[in-house]
Amino acid sequence: MERTILRGGRVLAHARAGISESDILVEGERIAAIEPWGRIEAPDARVIDARERILIPGLVNAHTHGHGALSKGVGDRWTLELLLNAGPWVSRLGSPEDKALAARLAAVEMLLKGCTACYDLFVEFPIPTREGLEAAGNAYAEAGMRAVIAPMMADRSFYAAIPGLIDALPAGLAAEVRGLASTSGDTHLDICRSVLRTWPFGRERVRLAVAPTIPLHCADEFMVGAARLAAEHGIGYHMHLAESKIQAVSARSRYGTSLARHLDRLGVLAPTFTAAHAVWLDAEEIRILAGAGASVAHNPGSNMRLGSGIAPARAMRDLGVNLGIGTDGSNCSDNLNMFEAMRIASLASHVRGPDYEQWLATAEVLEMATEGSAKALGFAGALGRIEPGFLADIVFLDAGNINYLPLNNLVNQLVHTEDGSGVDKVMVGGRLVVDEGECLTVNRAQLRRDVEAAAERLARSTVAQRRLAERLEPAVGAFCRALAATDHPINRYASAQGSDL
Ligand SMILES: [Zn+2]
Repeated sequence: MERTILRGGRVLAHARAGISESDILVEGERIAAIEPWGRIEAPDARVIDARERILIPGLVNAHTHGHGALSKGVGDRWTLELLLNAGPWVSRLGSPEDKALAARLAAVEMLLKGCTACYDLFVEFPIPTREGLEAAGNAYAEAGMRAVIAPMMADRSFYAAIPGLIDALPAGLAAEVRGLASTSGDTHLDICRSVLRTWPFGRERVRLAVAPTIPLHCADEFMVGAARLAAEHGIGYHMHLAESKIQAVSARSRYGTSLARHLDRLGVLAPTFTAAHAVWLDAEEIRILAGAGASVAHNPGSNMRLGSGIAPARAMRDLGVNLGIGTDGSNCSDNLNMFEAMRIASLASHVRGPDYEQWLATAEVLEMATEGSAKALGFAGALGRIEPGFLADIVFLDAGNINYLPLNNLVNQLVHTEDGSGVDKVMVGGRLVVDEGECLTVNRAQLRRDVEAAAERLARSTVAQRRLAERLEPAVGAFCRALAATDHPINRYASAQGSDL
């Protein structure tokens, strides 16, 4: 087994630890020992010089969309619903090569910015395929990044998901969206089952999960079937939950109850369940999630960008929900920078109100972006700390970087100052994948050529979908704006200011 010593670094073992002057012995994929400088003797080990470096656990992205990597910067004043309206052109990829390319681009960006593992809700239109999922898995494996890939699925179109929306569209457009094909939940799950049987990647490296995308977009039987499949295979279940007010209000007209209550009644909540966003929850729903042992992937950057609101992170933590942090996809928050996501998570908790005891402390935010996200991915006790027995996913920050001049308080500066520019090396499972700020596993010049060619090709091949979305946008926007403005009991709960949460 290959042994490596990281010598002379300053180590932050976890969010609540102090800095220690320690050497780290890595054996194979795992951390074997951490000892004060100079104490580890392993003559056969290769040595990585960590002097002038601050070593922290790799950040874990609890919610992203690799398929969206080619769409960064496409939208501006889009709500979630306008993004979903644009989905057929901004999220569409063609060949398995394009799917691999998008995942590779996402992986490289995350690695360069100090993120070593992610939960990727990867969409393929109209349904997931073995070729597409394996292509995405292969891209992560080759880049040397850990990933949980959850095919994102729906058996109902966005237009059919919101009660009353289609009827509010001009007749011609209504007919067009009524004609959009959808595929049954059983077909989706059959594909997942088949891909799971022969998944070629190690469970520790690139594993599968399932992601019926949004409750309103999926029949109840589909969500229940996905839960059964996840339980059978011991895999994760990830779903967007109460991301926008439109969803919370629509759920009450469709289900006659709140989203979390509905999922609870269906029996799909479990410790392996991760809810993304969870902005528009009331206190009872938070207790339901906590009681089920579920995780929430908090994506405050995306929530701000899409005007979705600010999730009650403090209340969720206090009531016992495990919280991770995510960037969301490049098609809705434009970068995959976990340092920025931490900063926004901290600041978002501040703008909820002046009661500073309710704000997230920086150590809480860092804990969420490491151990909290790791638990959401199904890696509790294996990722998120630099400790013997944990996987050796370690980020080396340059102690001479401007972000640490001077070094007053490391955890505060990791959350509030670091922007990714301090990342020098990144190790995943004992393998160095970034060195001197450059990715060792992917040729960047080639990546650029491939990405630019694919973006041009995709823009040409999605003209019809783009035109349709542009024709729909005014009517969808007007309907949703009116629906969001209606007075509703949900107004009493989650909102950016004045919330009881
Ligand atoms: Zn998402």
